[in-house]
Amino acid sequence: MPLLKSWVESANAADCPFPLNNLPYGVFSTPDLSARCGVAIGDMILDLKRAEADGVIAQSGAAVFAGPAWNAFMALGRDRWAGLRNRLTALLSDGSDGQTALSALLVPMADATMHLPIQVAEYTDFYAGRNHAFNVGTMFRGAENALPPNWLHIPIGYNGRASSVVVSGTDIRRPWGQLKGPNDDRPRFAPSQRFDIELEMGAIVGQPSSGPITVQEADDNIFGYVLLNDWSARDIQAWEYQPLGPFQSKATATSISPWIVTAAALEPFRCDTPEREVPLLAHLQDAGPALFDIDLRVTLAPEGKAATTIAETNYNVMYYSAAQQLAHHTTSGCPMRVGDLLGSGTISGPDKTARGSLLELSWGGKEPLTLDSGDTRSFIEDGDTLTLAGAARGDGFTIGFGTCVGTVRPALDDPYTRG
Ligand code: CA
Repeated sequence: MPLLKSWVESANAADCPFPLNNLPYGVFSTPDLSARCGVAIGDMILDLKRAEADGVIAQSGAAVFAGPAWNAFMALGRDRWAGLRNRLTALLSDGSDGQTALSALLVPMADATMHLPIQVAEYTDFYAGRNHAFNVGTMFRGAENALPPNWLHIPIGYNGRASSVVVSGTDIRRPWGQLKGPNDDRPRFAPSQRFDIELEMGAIVGQPSSGPITVQEADDNIFGYVLLNDWSARDIQAWEYQPLGPFQSKATATSISPWIVTAAALEPFRCDTPEREVPLLAHLQDAGPALFDIDLRVTLAPEGKAATTIAETNYNVMYYSAAQQLAHHTTSGCPMRVGDLLGSGTISGPDKTARGSLLELSWGGKEPLTLDSGDTRSFIEDGDTLTLAGAARGDGFTIGFGTCVGTVRPALDDPYTRG
């Protein structure tokens, strides 16, 4: 597929993250406009609240774009998803007679504040990257026991917290928790010393289900994808995780990028999951290519200093697709809701520079990274800004995700010391 040309000139550059081929959905506000739904085109945002009110895009009865979330629109279903995308593509394409009506509804991205694009119903995080699972398992349990016996049969996950999902740009406060080193007699309560990122993709569930669904049905129910940083306190995690999995170590915050790149925009970039090391049971078998070829990058910038790229990888290295994760999530009869968010698990490629966490990049702190500034890092230090970026590269165009940014701020004083 070639670049689709738009009358919004900035959208036509080969490296523009938001060409007409993309049309990602977000929620924005300006000093003059309340938070509402919008679509990115070039360096502009089309105000869908006003487009709906003006009748430029189809009415459905109740206004679905006026509020600060995409949930109401997602609930309308796949036919409406396709209808909106077709309509926006027609209105914004070069030569469209919609230019006059829509020009007045464009807001410069530079003037906008972005918000969480969805009301997150629930958040589930998986562990579907083979390299990440092997690396972390090796560090926590030794190479012989690195992959748990269930790992090649089910996409392992845990129920995370929707309440701490935040939009890119939100500062992250270093958490306190129980820490216990291998040689300590007992735990102590202190700020995490091994605070980390996890480079992930987030899949957004756009249709509800009330019982087990197939991998194909799951793929159909996914509305789109975002970048996701699952902030992780490794020292809290190492002490608390057995036998029920991560809890407070992952509950501080999860950052997502503000633009939902739709499954429709990613269609040209579908790719297969890797060859299966053992056959999957029938209900989890692939229903077709369900991963996506998305280049991913992580940078770290110490406070007041330039950023260094610390990892480069691709979503296509995952062992399980989001569709398989969602299907697995429903096998027990667990209902899924519009606005459910599924984290892919840390995306680490086979090479050392392709690891999606500092835990792996510094190998548990044994091999600190040297940044371009000359600073070294094993884990995140206060004031560090971590930025995830992602893009699928087409022939003469880019399907960009924008960035997912967070700056880590110092721990507060001991929360249990009342002065
Ligand atoms: Ca994670």
